[in-house]
Amino acid sequence: MTELVLTGGTVFGAAHADSVAVRKGRIAAIGTAQDARAWTGPGTRVLELEGRTVLPGFQDAHLHPPSGGLAAAQCYLFDAETREQCLDAVAGYAAEHPELEWIAGGGWSIDSFAGGTPSRGDLDAVVPDRPVFLDNRDGHGGWVNSRALELAGVTAATPDPPDGRIEREPSGEPQGTLHEGAMELVARLLPPTTQTEWEEAVLRAQAELHALGITAWQDAAVTAETYPAYLALAERGVLTMRMEGNLLWERGRQNGQLEELVDRRDAAAALGRLRLRGAKIFVDGVLENFTGAVLEPYVGTDNAGLSMHDPDELARMVTALDSHGFQVHMHTIGDRAVREALDALEAARRANGARDARHHLAHVQLVHPDDLPRFAELGVAANVSPYWACRSDYVTVLTEPFIGPERSARMYPFGTLHRAGARLAFGSDWTVSTPNPLLEVEVAVTRAPPDDRGAEPLLPEEGLDLQTALAAFTAGSAWVNFLDDETGTIEPGKLADLAVLDRDVLDQGAGPIGDAKVLLTLAEGEAVYAASELGW
Ligand SMILES: [Zn+2]
Repeated sequence: MTELVLTGGTVFGAAHADSVAVRKGRIAAIGTAQDARAWTGPGTRVLELEGRTVLPGFQDAHLHPPSGGLAAAQCYLFDAETREQCLDAVAGYAAEHPELEWIAGGGWSIDSFAGGTPSRGDLDAVVPDRPVFLDNRDGHGGWVNSRALELAGVTAATPDPPDGRIEREPSGEPQGTLHEGAMELVARLLPPTTQTEWEEAVLRAQAELHALGITAWQDAAVTAETYPAYLALAERGVLTMRMEGNLLWERGRQNGQLEELVDRRDAAAALGRLRLRGAKIFVDGVLENFTGAVLEPYVGTDNAGLSMHDPDELARMVTALDSHGFQVHMHTIGDRAVREALDALEAARRANGARDARHHLAHVQLVHPDDLPRFAELGVAANVSPYWACRSDYVTVLTEPFIGPERSARMYPFGTLHRAGARLAFGSDWTVSTPNPLLEVEVAVTRAPPDDRGAEPLLPEEGLDLQTALAAFTAGSAWVNFLDDETGTIEPGKLADLAVLDRDVLDQGAGPIGDAKVLLTLAEGEAVYAASELGW
């Protein structure tokens, strides 16, 4: 018996069809309205699409759901766009929470502050007595007040750690911004988040992302803290999202780490909708604070950024992970990081032979032209972050002047990668950026920000056509998630993980896709989100 029939709309990837039948959680058939009448029996629920679109559920191939869910419960600066708004939000949160020993949270944006580096003095003026630690929106920097620095014993005499940098005043005193690994100097003192808090955070993220049409995600950094929460939720059977997770390779730990990752992965093998098949490695930082690893130094400096691992060591780690069956997911921003990651994957293939490993590089902001064909050659996916590919302050103020015109002309080369045969997957990197796939797809196509659509596009020749962008966010990410056998396209036999949008997004006259809304999200045919106007 067919439980559900969606009929009279656009079926993404099936131009001949306008209807989809769902039976026992799977797509039973696709066809015409006439077919749909034949599928419909007394117990069948029929949704008239009235020209709207049904898509495979979106799959976000790189994001951080536990911190996304947790952020809402802490000092929340994601909506603050200026220094003043940040300080108001911190002051307000501190006043509402007199019981808290630490004011913790995050979401400030570097483009709200001169030089991208907020100061301790600003924070001291609103919270003088308690320590404050606030992550920035991209997770690569922290903002602290004087009390936090004092408790951590960070002074003018404290050296920069090897994997980070303490922003300093002219006197050498810490200025209040901590870059990359330097965050840990203070973050280690924060009261730990409890397992219950992490579980609530994951469930909050699950609900929020279902409402955006997302049915699968790849958590880019499952940590020692969030791992037990995921396991507990999977055991309780409350996951409606298909969750692929990467176990985080921690910098600076050598002995026993590989064995620990193998144990954690195997303990979570096939637990409901949870899978932990990947290992995540940071190869570099980000360009905005000069920690992105570049082949030629930043303009006017002799600094070529940070390699988080010596390249030979990286090749050894990747080879070992590959030989133990891990999918390796590497954060790579600069062109040197991309090259070091591809070199490591090539070394792994030489040592272990080719296999269906589906390794992927995340972000790939700069790729040297010589490295473009290597993605296809090595079978490595470019897991890009589409929302970043526009002329935001991050690009025009904090990046272009420091990388110069030649490199600026090849930033976020999605079109070039696609034409070079690289498999594309999309990840939001939430909470760094919006998790809304429709806004992200819009930027991938137009290369302009949805809140300033008339703006000059960033390298428009690197824009993707709408079909390619939607495929990257569905089938492309499904491949990276090892879910392409069961999901990612609308085909009979696949799981009914689907999203219904409020218009025909493939119609040129439908307006910007970023304005479309999700009406219904199905996981194995069950509604996990329904907009109120649908009366589901
Ligand atoms: Zn990330």
